[in-house]
Amino acid sequence: FVFGKKRATDVAHMVWKHIIQKGDTVIDATCGNGFDTLALLNLVADDSHNGYVYALDIQKDALDKTSLLLEESLNSNQVRTIKKQLVKLFNICHSKMEEVVQRNASIRLVAFNLGYLPGGDKEIKTRSETTLMALEAAKRILIPGGLISIVVYVGHPGGREELEAVETFAATLSVENWICCKLQMLNRPCAPIPIFLFQR
Ligand code: SAM
Repeated sequence: FVFGKKRATDVAHMVWKHIIQKGDTVIDATCGNGFDTLALLNLVADDSHNGYVYALDIQKDALDKTSLLLEESLNSNQVRTIKKQLVKLFNICHSKMEEVVQRNASIRLVAFNLGYLPGGDKEIKTRSETTLMALEAAKRILIPGGLISIVVYVGHPGGREELEAVETFAATLSVENWICCKLQMLNRPCAPIPIFLFQR
């Protein structure tokens, strides 16, 4: 586990591997350019397992980019067709995730990669109020043993405030049911911060 040489998102992906099982259903609450969605898809699905990824974003542009990345990254036509059906894309605020996720779905992981779309409009970014609503929704639909994974960016206006909101949310989760931790680079004060909320 060489945290020092990894980006925050790589660290998150490494943790996901220990939680997600083939055939699981998971949510990418901020699909952006699609890198997390693709990583999640490869963890839930293979030739013999149909896991599902719900990929949400408030920007249509992000959903198009995610679709394109999936098309370019999956190798054969057959795999492409199978795997694309396993990703359900929704142009919706993540605070409304319960409106699109199947009622009886067992959600093992909800991933948030906060902030703005790299290469896009920096003003369209996650905001504390809706992030908190989405975290509450994630908490309601997660199965025991599941994980809420959050990468928080503090280098842009509003980022630190959002970090505080996420930390306050995490700090109020019950000790009996949750293990909450964050990984902070002490010598890089503006580095993105992965936060993991493990449900027991
Ligand atoms: N996970 C992405 C990837 O792998 O490329 C990167 C995500 S990017 C840092 C943050 C994304 O969150 C942006 O695409 C932005 O449009 C989206 N976003 C902002 N507010 C949102 C909201 N309320 N609900 C869902 N997505 C939101």
